[in-house]
Amino acid sequence: MNLILLGPPGAGKGTQAQYLVEDYAIPQISTGDMLRAAVKEGTPMGLKAKECMDSGALVPDDVVVGIVRERLQQGDCAKGFILDGFPRTVPQADALSETLQQLDKGIDAAIALTVDTEALVDRLAGRRTCPVCGATYHLKYDPPREEGICTKCGAKLVLRDDDKEETVRNRMQVYAQQTQPLLDYYAQAGVLVEVDGMRSIDEVRTAIKEALESQS
Ligand code: ADP
Ligand code: AMP
Repeated sequence: MNLILLGPPGAGKGTQAQYLVEDYAIPQISTGDMLRAAVKEGTPMGLKAKECMDSGALVPDDVVVGIVRERLQQGDCAKGFILDGFPRTVPQADALSETLQQLDKGIDAAIALTVDTEALVDRLAGRRTCPVCGATYHLKYDPPREEGICTKCGAKLVLRDDDKEETVRNRMQVYAQQTQPLLDYYAQAGVLVEVDGMRSIDEVRTAIKEALESQS
């Protein structure tokens, strides 16, 4: 099962990717998580990426394409993978398709979560992230067991810098201009599966499962 999760920031890609990992036993490949790890480690790539991420812009295509290409060749991707937050531009989608062709693989489904802008802003403002294990929560919709503490690893939760209001607005624009065209791209490839992401987390999880089962 080779999957892509598409949708604007806050649509629920990371949340649903965690469930797909459980349901299908395939790894989540989140370029956002990988870039944040590089920033934290202070690697040359991290230093280059930080400025773009802080402003809500995209990191250059060659940087993300390079990390995804390397990741897809690791052994745990043999039975499938969930791309979360990649591709985000048409050149990234072209590079992915070329890489998969070389590996004799293809995309089974590009799942697009649709959520209206007001709900996205509400989700991002209330999102809390674990800086240690990467788990995400929501103050109202998916709270941790103990307030402010990661249920999975016990670390103190934070508000991501780029979830602050001024950056969120920029990220929405970047999505509309650079990423939204990918919906047509994958529709033309015959693998687009649109899922109404306005429902509860559990309902969206069930809708994705049903959509994937009806495809196979
Ligand atoms: P993305 O990875 O697409 O940026 P996330 O999965 O991190 O989005 O979700 C953004 C925020 O919204 C998180 O705080 C998450 O807990 C919450 N969330 C995700 N899906 C839903 C949903 N269906 N209903 C309400 N809140 C949601
Ligand atoms: P995310 O965690 O997916 O919301 O991504 C956070 C930030 O990381 C984005 O706003 C971008 O700056 C950067 N980023 C993540 N994935 C990509 C990608 N595929 N292409 C370019 N930049 C990315």
